[in-house]
Amino acid sequence: MAASGEAGRQWQEEVAAVVVVGSCMTDLVSLTPRLPKTGETIHGHKFFIGFGGKGANQCVQAARLGARTSMVCKEATGRTGESENQVGKDSFGNDYIENLKQNDISTEFAYQTEDAATGTASIIVNKEGQNIIVIVAGANLLLNTKDLREATDVIRRAKVMICQLEVTPATSLEALTMAHSSGVKTLFNPAPATADLDSRFYTLSDVFCCNESEAEILTGLAVSSPADAGTAALVLLERGCQVVIITLGAEGCVMLSKTEPVPKFIPTEKVKAVDTTGAGDSFVGALAFYLAYYPNLSLEEMLKRSNFIAAVSVQTAGTQSSYPHKKDLPLDLF
Ligand code: ADP
Repeated sequence: MAASGEAGRQWQEEVAAVVVVGSCMTDLVSLTPRLPKTGETIHGHKFFIGFGGKGANQCVQAARLGARTSMVCKEATGRTGESENQVGKDSFGNDYIENLKQNDISTEFAYQTEDAATGTASIIVNKEGQNIIVIVAGANLLLNTKDLREATDVIRRAKVMICQLEVTPATSLEALTMAHSSGVKTLFNPAPATADLDSRFYTLSDVFCCNESEAEILTGLAVSSPADAGTAALVLLERGCQVVIITLGAEGCVMLSKTEPVPKFIPTEKVKAVDTTGAGDSFVGALAFYLAYYPNLSLEEMLKRSNFIAAVSVQTAGTQSSYPHKKDLPLDLF
């Protein structure tokens, strides 16, 4: 069942340029003086609920830059007692869909299920900023190829489709296959990374974008400098991607392509970070925006601008709440 309502129908007559097939997670964040030990109960001093999940994060950033976006995802329904698998009342799914609408994202293919809870990340952060996190992907893992088939039209008519690895690999692979076979540019973010990534993820990726630690897991190489990232990017390129980008936190990123297989370092202006959570998703969402709306820009220029936008996101607390809107950014980015 897909979400209905006014905003859910908003794009029916219009084509989404950026489609994300991926995750929505509700972040349940407790701030505490220290992390609890096994079996211990401690007092925290603050609790808040945030909207996260790599798929939705990237979609929100693209939308805030002005992209027409559609999110293909799955959350729980708000109802109870309608299925033997019913997990109890879960208002997170409805809240999340409302959040997507607030960001002007089409929810026509934001499905809701009675068979699993909305994905959650329970996060405890101590005063040193260290954390422990439990992710229960829940309904995200029920997004399936039948759901994708219903969304065929929106996927095939997009300019760019983004996938990550917080839904099942089979669903991500099917989405990439559908987009690739229709000439839609595929932007794949292999996160969270696993060492045994199916080889088709590489051959189906027009743009393969990961961070240093993901590059390490995928290649088995240590990545702690732009030169290391260039070496790792070459290994990933040889697996069949058209373009490889490795983000390097405050350093910027490295790019490499089939047509120019020499690693190029794209430095950025280092800023004082307040909260780097979701910086990579801001970067990927911004890159999707440029690929869809400014296809004639050089990749290097797109990456400079994506670096800039991600740097803005680290200067404010929160994940989606730190992502900038077009109106708050310099005009020369557009
Ligand atoms: P992730 O969030 O996946 O770990 P990174 O840490 O590599 O990703 O950050 C993604 C992008 O965010 C970087 O490529 C860079 O553009 C930007 N960025 C992150 N931290 C900073 C910083 N302190 N100063 C400037 N830019 C930053």
